[in-house]
Amino acid sequence: MVPSMPVTTALLSAEETSQLAQSFEARPAEEVLGWVAERFAGEAVLTCSWQMTSSVLVHMVQRIGADIRIVELDTGLLFPETYAVRDALVQRYDLRVERILPLQTVAEQEAEHGPTLWERDPDRCCDLRKVEPFERALAGAAAWITGVRRSQSATRAGIRKIELDADRALVKVQPLADWSEEDVRTYLAVNDVPYNALHDRGYPSIGCIPCTRAVAPGEDSRAGRWAGTEKTECGLHIRSDR
Ligand code: SF4
Repeated sequence: MVPSMPVTTALLSAEETSQLAQSFEARPAEEVLGWVAERFAGEAVLTCSWQMTSSVLVHMVQRIGADIRIVELDTGLLFPETYAVRDALVQRYDLRVERILPLQTVAEQEAEHGPTLWERDPDRCCDLRKVEPFERALAGAAAWITGVRRSQSATRAGIRKIELDADRALVKVQPLADWSEEDVRTYLAVNDVPYNALHDRGYPSIGCIPCTRAVAPGEDSRAGRWAGTEKTECGLHIRSDR
């Protein structure tokens, strides 16, 4: 008997991606996740920042039994509440989470680049503590799943549920693109899923401690990220070709 060959996956064409994006608009997030898990079996990665949408997506992955790697990018500068909800989700759903660290500890980075690099050159700091670890974690993967939503900010308003990240040779999947914050909160409440406690203390968007503040009522949901600078994204979500 001839052994079966492993199924190989290739990136989708732009036309195929566009057609899928159209059809995914009317499909629930769980179906989109299920499609990714099947189409890119063993080669799909969900990155978690342990904000509310991470809670939704890990719950869905666990509920549908999807073959999707769960990865966290631990910058070493996250809030205690962020680590606490990660631990709560791991325990509740028996998750296997791959923890990806930067090449340098915060102290080593300080020794090489000086103190508080995030204040002097946040793009460089994000490159070192988020982007490089992300690219290392996703090496060899075919599909990247994230929890970004259109209503989070103007820079995310045009995202589709499936896109090509041509620079990284990845299919990027955003099953919650059309969800509102209320949709997210309703899902978490109905399914009794743990979520980051900072969301109820004025933090709609949560990243590293030095670059995240609470927002005032009516402020943009990402106004608390890199406040007072021109920076709006860490560098993970700016390369997609739509
Ligand atoms: Fe550095 Fe701030 Fe980026 Fe975190 S969010 S990696 S502290 S610049």
